[in-house]
Amino acid sequence: MEFKELNIIEPVLRALDSRGYVNPSPIQEQTIPLLLEGKDVIGIAQTGTGKTAAFVVPVLQKLHESSELRSKHPRALILAPTRELAVQIGMSFEAYGRFLNLKHLAVYGGVSIGQQIKFLSHGVDVLIATPGRLIDLMNQGKVNLRQVEFFVLDEADRMLDMGFVRDIKKIASAIPTERQGLFFSATMSNTVADLTLDFLKNPVRVDITPESTPVEKIEQCVFFVDQLKKIELLLDLIKGGSMSKALVFVGMKYRADKIVRALAQAGISAEAIHGNKSQYQRDRALNNFKSGKARILVATDIAARGIDVKNIGHVINFDLPNEPENYVHRIGRTARAGTEGIAYSFCAAEDRNYLNQIERITKKRLEHADHKYHSVAAKNATGVAARPKPRRGQRTGDGGRGGDRPRGRGGSDGRGNVRRKSRGNARGNGGHDGRGRNGRSGRSRSSGSSGGSSRSIRSGRHRDRR
Ligand code: AMP
Repeated sequence: MEFKELNIIEPVLRALDSRGYVNPSPIQEQTIPLLLEGKDVIGIAQTGTGKTAAFVVPVLQKLHESSELRSKHPRALILAPTRELAVQIGMSFEAYGRFLNLKHLAVYGGVSIGQQIKFLSHGVDVLIATPGRLIDLMNQGKVNLRQVEFFVLDEADRMLDMGFVRDIKKIASAIPTERQGLFFSATMSNTVADLTLDFLKNPVRVDITPESTPVEKIEQCVFFVDQLKKIELLLDLIKGGSMSKALVFVGMKYRADKIVRALAQAGISAEAIHGNKSQYQRDRALNNFKSGKARILVATDIAARGIDVKNIGHVINFDLPNEPENYVHRIGRTARAGTEGIAYSFCAAEDRNYLNQIERITKKRLEHADHKYHSVAAKNATGVAARPKPRRGQRTGDGGRGGDRPRGRGGSDGRGNVRRKSRGNARGNGGHDGRGRNGRSGRSRSSGSSGGSSRSIRSGRHRDRR
């Protein structure tokens, strides 16, 4: 199957072709025709499957074909859980819409809202937003969603996980009920299913479980190691020579910085990306990693969402994720778009339970690596020893390392207000997209055949918790 068999208009085909994309991925092959027909769709697809183009292409096409309805206000709204993903989606609109005369804008927290308001006032066709920032814009009366015809929720499971459900409901209530809806989710939990009942009309479900899922293509193994020996193990593996571009995941922000320092001391170029970094620092870290200036990127889960870097040979779970689904998301960063990759997981005694959960959900027993730091205690840990040690000041009930996870509704909402916690679990809505904070501002927009442009405008300071 080729893209040209999917009734895609010539300017979009040309843009796909210019990226070297001739054959649609399975999610694209199934979703694009349904969306062009006007159906609501739930796409269950993992990261790296090409899911972004699966909605960007038909949205662009439908907007272009009905351009007589064009107004100053957005006709397509894409919600994404993190700013990185919002930026990434903006880049896809830029790429696939480069021969069309449509404007897009990505709005997200942690950057100045003023610039975003200014660009919105100039008019946009497609608005890509993180929920927190969009609610701020709505509260200030700076965005009109009454013209929205296409409503896309990307990474719906992640969005719910991050406590965005109330925001999503509020946003959806501001959009006309006559609209086409699309949800993408890596998993189909009951809560995602409930949400689709609220927002989609007779949706068609497209479930992409390819014969060889990206995860199955990845060579995976676990290294049992004491927590304090993890850095030495990492250094040994990197110095071993076979590792070129590697993404290292950690559970806590401070640990990311510590690893970068240790790598620098050993003469290895590395960057950290996490919620205490400003948008400017994140962009720079990512660009250095993409260009190869930094060999290693050390990231926390939330900061890493939406990162699309080609040729990542290795993903290293320096800490195992406290939610087993994140294991799949993490290792999917390697082996993107059909390439193969390697995933190493470091398992200390306190990670042992997480490893059990990962093996349960992936239905796969990870191979045990033979190495000089092997820890029998880590391998055989059970009971209390197999659980993460509570951190100082940590509230109980969050199942382990708080790390880079979004703060609960009990935390600051980023506007200096302190909300009460509604759950024992430290999840929720505070601060994950830095809503309402003054700081840097960014935009990306394209203006089509006249030569689309994409740039970021930055100023000021930014504080964020991810
Ligand atoms: P996504 O799952 O949307 O994050 O896409 C994963 C990667 O696959 C991105 O680098 C895309 O640019 C790339 N990609 C998307 N569609 C195709 C395609 N049809 N052929 C080859 N690569 C693609």
